[in-house]
Amino acid sequence: MAAMLLKGGEAASAVMKEVAAGVADLARSGYVPGLATVLVGDDPASHTYVRAKRRDAAKVGIRSIHHQLEEIPSQEELEDLVNGLSADPGVDGILVQLPLPEGLDEGRVVGCIDPRKDVDGLHNENLGRLVAELPGPRPCTPAGVMRILSHYDLPVSGKRAVVVGRSFLVGKPLALLLATKGADATVTIAHSRTVDLESLCREADILVAAVGRAKMVKASWVKPGAVVIDVGINRTAEGLVGDVDFAEVSEVASAITPVPGGVGLMTRAMLMSNTVSAARGNISGLGGVG
Ligand code: NDP
Repeated sequence: MAAMLLKGGEAASAVMKEVAAGVADLARSGYVPGLATVLVGDDPASHTYVRAKRRDAAKVGIRSIHHQLEEIPSQEELEDLVNGLSADPGVDGILVQLPLPEGLDEGRVVGCIDPRKDVDGLHNENLGRLVAELPGPRPCTPAGVMRILSHYDLPVSGKRAVVVGRSFLVGKPLALLLATKGADATVTIAHSRTVDLESLCREADILVAAVGRAKMVKASWVKPGAVVIDVGINRTAEGLVGDVDFAEVSEVASAITPVPGGVGLMTRAMLMSNTVSAARGNISGLGGVG
């Protein structure tokens, strides 16, 4: 394998150290941050994610307030719950685990989160702040990708980045973060209608795959020496695999994130980081997550 392995565990533990220091700092003022998690339905992957997030919170001393709704609530019931958490001064951050079961309107539910408690960074107000390059909580996975690049001192400025995937959760916010002033990449967003995706990907100095198709990105898609970030999580017969054919691509790329052990760990760490920032905003009375 020619490529350097970008270990999510290593970068995430640097973030978690900062988070633990932040929690200790708040504890000195007698404050313990609280993260509310809302889990609806019985999707096994969502259960696993929320369990891991609560474990992370416990590790660093963040209080966890968990609402598990096995029985699917009505839209109004769920919105009432989230509105209640938004109004609760004991709650600093609110995470509604997505996707919600069919029939529930995610946009409306996320819209009930107080933007200052929106630790997933997905409220329209915070997505607007991202576009406007104003401070605010950034979506965790894109923020985690940026952090992994900086952790390994990989240059972004002036680089040609291609982000495959345009979801509001990953692709679009990540493309914005890469192109934002200070990061300064030149970014192309690709999706299912992109023509000649393979050639486009081969132009990338930084190639991000956020699609959800196992091993879609092959070695022939990758410019020799490119940095490859694999966001995909696909459950297959051979276990969890990314959107990148790791065995092939790691022979061509200069650096690559593994799956598992890559971006997923960063997503969790950035959630904790956003929670501490929200708690700081909450006690300063100024609001807003920096
Ligand atoms: P979505 O399904 O919302 O978006 C997938 C994107 O991929 C869409 O923009 C879609 O295009 C595009 N796409 C689909 N097929 C192709 C194709 N053949 N060629 C090019 N583009 C294609 O997924 P998410 O963004 O939510 O997640 C993407 C992946 O990342 C999933 O595997 C998910 O599990 C994983 N994930 C991982 C996280 C982590 O922490 N590591 C966190 C969140 C997600 P179009 O818009 O045209 O339909």
